[in-house]
Amino acid sequence: MDSFEGRVSRGQGRAGVFTRLPWVTQALLDSFGIDPWPGTLNLRLGEEPRLPAGEARQLRPPGRDACAALCWVVRIGTAQGIDATGVLLRPQVPGYDGRVAEIIAAVPLREQLAVVEGDRIRVSLSPATETVRGLLLDVDGTLLDSVGAYGEAAARAAAPLGLSVDPAMVRRSLNENTDFWALLLGGHGESSRVQALRAEAMRHWPEVRDRHVQVFDGVAAALRELRQAGIRLALVTASHGETLPVLERAGLLGLFETIVTAADVGQRKPHPEGLLLALERLQLCAGDVAYVGDTPVDMLAARAAGMRAFGVLQGAGDGRLLTGAGADRLLPGAARLPGLCRLSA
Ligand SMILES: [Mg+2]
Repeated sequence: MDSFEGRVSRGQGRAGVFTRLPWVTQALLDSFGIDPWPGTLNLRLGEEPRLPAGEARQLRPPGRDACAALCWVVRIGTAQGIDATGVLLRPQVPGYDGRVAEIIAAVPLREQLAVVEGDRIRVSLSPATETVRGLLLDVDGTLLDSVGAYGEAAARAAAPLGLSVDPAMVRRSLNENTDFWALLLGGHGESSRVQALRAEAMRHWPEVRDRHVQVFDGVAAALRELRQAGIRLALVTASHGETLPVLERAGLLGLFETIVTAADVGQRKPHPEGLLLALERLQLCAGDVAYVGDTPVDMLAARAAGMRAFGVLQGAGDGRLLTGAGADRLLPGAARLPGLCRLSA
């Protein structure tokens, strides 16, 4: 059974308690990239669905004082076309009512889906692996641990003016793909002042980059494994390639068939122009690929381009923001991509 329907109900709430256990939270994060929002969306089903146990991931408790659970990644959607990614959780307890589906996600699902008790919801099981011919990848916060470095360069440029740089503001500018300096100066900065600050940050950049920016653990091996599996790779970054030398020095730049930077496009993400340009250069269809990124604008751009959106949790965004922006899949980091993706026939 790939999909079934149910109605929003109060349910038993047993999984809601379960998801707040620290070992469960950690296991959901490790296995699915989901930092669960407390509580579950409970559905009342007409009959017990035949769920494929062989495709389930099992959560095993560290001790004997808690129960195990079977989990499936699901896509849940309303008749109004709003959808979200979550995990269907089935606690392995005697007498559990199989006509109840308990679903957790990184967001409060009732709000995300705009549903109330009694509303009809469709639940579709996601495949155990995603078949792709290619992957388009964002760079900063996805392959490279560089978000902090951008903050550091900005702080060095801002300090002589007595301005301090809040890391949350750096993340916000990346998540929304808005100009950091305009945010810092409250949108009232004169363009000459913004330009001067930007130039000063760029003056500091090579040293900050070389000192602070690193490839995330496991990402180099993951990229090589994907290429060996025949999956084609491309980079699509909203930057002007400020961190590409780090990938080059790590010997990774040659793995990508094409690189799209801000210089190649007229419109910033979430506009899909850059993703569609990479797709054209690879001569692939949107259905053949996914875009992997760390921010809501990455997810929105992927959806706008008609491709799957995979969100990683090591960069500027978080599970809640990425789910809210339409992520099809969440991963703790890009190093997990080989476990999720296989080459389509
Ligand atoms: Mg990024």
